[in-house]
Amino acid sequence: MKTIRLFDENSHLYTFTATVLSAEAGKTPNTLAVVLDATAFFPEGGGQYADPGTLSGCPVTDVQETGGVITHTVDISHPDGVAHPFTVGATVTGEVDAATRLARMQNHTGEHIISGIVHRMYGYKNVGFHLSDRRDAPDVTLDFDGVLTREQLDAIEDEANAIVAACLPVKAYYPAPDELATLTYRAKLELSEGVRIVQIGRDDDVKDRCACCAPHVDNTGEIGLIKLLDFIHYKGGVRIHMLCGSWALKDYRRKYADVAAMSAAMSVGQEDVTLGFARLKAELEEIKRGTAELRRQLEEMLIESIEATEGSLCLFDEGLDAPAMRRTLNLAVQKCGRFCGVFSGNDKDGYRFVIGRGDPTLDLKAYAKEINTALSARGGGSSEMLQGSSTATRAVIESYFANR
Ligand SMILES: [Zn+2]
Repeated sequence: MKTIRLFDENSHLYTFTATVLSAEAGKTPNTLAVVLDATAFFPEGGGQYADPGTLSGCPVTDVQETGGVITHTVDISHPDGVAHPFTVGATVTGEVDAATRLARMQNHTGEHIISGIVHRMYGYKNVGFHLSDRRDAPDVTLDFDGVLTREQLDAIEDEANAIVAACLPVKAYYPAPDELATLTYRAKLELSEGVRIVQIGRDDDVKDRCACCAPHVDNTGEIGLIKLLDFIHYKGGVRIHMLCGSWALKDYRRKYADVAAMSAAMSVGQEDVTLGFARLKAELEEIKRGTAELRRQLEEMLIESIEATEGSLCLFDEGLDAPAMRRTLNLAVQKCGRFCGVFSGNDKDGYRFVIGRGDPTLDLKAYAKEINTALSARGGGSSEMLQGSSTATRAVIESYFANR
């Protein structure tokens, strides 16, 4: 027997009673697969997760539909070991999580409005829809088979919010086949019977008509703000991220807090955070340039102060980048008669190195294997210069160079 879909008639029905038709062991321990004669739980489908809630106090963790029969997965692991009430013929009370359902209906109905406008204004089809709210940050994506610009999206957003402000009726119904044949509507599949039509707007001024089986709000005013966020080019069209209603408010609250914190940290008005950030970035670039110049001068002075030796030399620094290491090496080789190593890093994370020669007749390549072994290194190069990384300690490295 097909399950009576209470959400079809009344999408705001969150509490209901129904009779248990079957209750079998679920796929995981401590769960039951419960079929009722009727339910207000919307099953997973059409890009939307199943409604959460409880059946006689037990959490409903999943709801699926097969051939018109809706099955609830119910968690019966009661902490106090209380027996579950799911016996065939028993009456149970269902509670759909109202806040989640309303938020999903706001976003789902918002999707119809946006898809209707895009279809009417640009002729593009909605070819993908996903409504995700299982993590902390809800995300709604809409895919269209044509490209849109930010300016066009702003115009679509204005039009959508005008439809919200007009508080237009949203009607969901199953038209008779002869009426259905006369209707123009958007549909993903070509069906001729059992088609549920969701109409936005009055009969004499329809804003959108679409075949859909999900629950929607009754009036566009319930949606609240419709906000189109980022968009990317996707499979020849666009993928738009959108948030409506309570999810849009949550997103705004978070972003407002971010802007307020940035504004306070930079001591600029909230309207100037972008300018303030650009100024900070420019200052940072200037400081980086100045630091690099100071560092270069310091390196030169340090190398200048090193006493020249006929033997080998090795220098250490925590954070030299590759060009700075080569620059240091080029100065330092003039101070030694044999091997000259420049090491950047520390004992804990290891070192990167470049090794040069004070004596131009030395063939460094011939020593690469020995150096790799002595310094637990991976490296190589030419007869003039070797480079690589080492996991040896500074003490081991210094002792190698002292004997070379
Ligand atoms: Zn829908």
